[in-house]
Amino acid sequence: MSGPRHYCGVVGITAGHNVVAGLQKALMIIQHRGQDSAGISVFDGNAISTVKDAGLVQTALPKERIENLNGNVGIGHVRYATTGGKGGMNAQPMIMTTAFGMIALAHNGDLTNYEKLKTAYMAKGAAFQTDSDTELIINLISRRMGQDQDPVKAIKAVMAEIEGAYALSLMINGRLFGIRDPLGIRPLCIGKLDDGYMICSESSAVYALGGEVVRDVVPGEIVELTKDIVKSYAPTNRIPYAHCYFEWVYFARPDSVMDGREVYEVRKNVGRVLAREHPADVDLVMPIPDSGRAHAIGFAIESGLPYEEGFMKNRFAERTFILPDQAAREKAVSSKMIPIKSTVNGKRILIIDDSIVRGTTLKRLVTMLREAGATEVHVRIGSPPIIAPCFYGIDMKNREQFIANKHTVDEIREIIGADSLGYISIQGLVEAVGIPASDLCLACVNGKYPTKIEGEEHRYQTKLTDIL
Ligand code: AMP
Repeated sequence: MSGPRHYCGVVGITAGHNVVAGLQKALMIIQHRGQDSAGISVFDGNAISTVKDAGLVQTALPKERIENLNGNVGIGHVRYATTGGKGGMNAQPMIMTTAFGMIALAHNGDLTNYEKLKTAYMAKGAAFQTDSDTELIINLISRRMGQDQDPVKAIKAVMAEIEGAYALSLMINGRLFGIRDPLGIRPLCIGKLDDGYMICSESSAVYALGGEVVRDVVPGEIVELTKDIVKSYAPTNRIPYAHCYFEWVYFARPDSVMDGREVYEVRKNVGRVLAREHPADVDLVMPIPDSGRAHAIGFAIESGLPYEEGFMKNRFAERTFILPDQAAREKAVSSKMIPIKSTVNGKRILIIDDSIVRGTTLKRLVTMLREAGATEVHVRIGSPPIIAPCFYGIDMKNREQFIANKHTVDEIREIIGADSLGYISIQGLVEAVGIPASDLCLACVNGKYPTKIEGEEHRYQTKLTDIL
């Protein structure tokens, strides 16, 4: 699949006051979902104005660029840097002028039938400017509105056409909609503010704005928010959902609650399960910050072992995962994480990370711990072995990059230089998340995809047809 990937965060606010500051604050809270670019669009009663650019929220939306923006309805987006095209070019929200006014869209997820739909519509004369599935969605909504003029009917028709992962914050002139794909792959929740409502990828942003979380957007649901009410166009039938387990294990903030399950609690459960599945005779348990922290706390509680912080993370270091070559990634890990010698020296240590993809991070960290004097280094992992690419918005798309595809667990242990290595089992992971396996997307660890992917095993899903 070409084109930008959407491993991102979205927000939408409607209120009795200017929402610009609220949008900016919410984006800062969900900044971990994307650091490549940020943007906001607001409707001032006449038109939609947009500010977006490359960089963190602070850089992309500086005071001088947003202080003149004004609107009581608006949406925002943070975008993750991946290989599909970095920088301001791909920043969202994406805006288009249509016969029905201006449409602004912020998208988290990836459409799996994007190429097919794009080709089909191009054959009918449609023209596209980008390689982005976000543009396709706006285009389809506009076309459908041309038939019916009713945005909800148009969205519903588009949802019947598109497949894959999409959590959308959509503004048509001043009307604000939140939309979640029928599988509920990416999160989206509704919050009540003092004098309005919001939607956001993560609940922690609602609390940061002084609001209360109302509920998650139900998979397959369209919500329309005004400052006074939330209208719901909810599915009447239910298909098995496919919530992405990796949101809880790695991606989301620990203080967010998604689909009824708090991330911090789930991560602690992961640690507890690991302690039962792969106990170890060690002196202390150490997290790999940041996502490994709650996992390690759970392990320490369950095993009764002491918990220590033995790695200091340089919070200003760049993301190592997305660097283009192995040497650069290894070098970057060394400057990102530094062991605390007094904690490590002469100790038998157990470290926990959320996942192994290529093995780069752990190979380097295990070596650094030994150099700092650790006598034994044991490794536990909060995801089962990752063996299959993600087509739903997580940046793991190349089968070749997965170390677990080429090596057994014992070979991986040897490659990373650990004394022992234990991955959580799929069953243990499902228990830790606390949602039945039939409602989780586990494609990257079991190879079964919730939507049809060419050449891949397909986990059967009934298509949700009567959405409204
Ligand atoms: P690797 O070093 O290639 O084994 O990648 C695993 C490390 O990268 C772990 O420390 C994870 O926290 C992190 N990680 C895993 N998946 C992703 C992703 N899709 N994007 C960014 N970081 C990730």
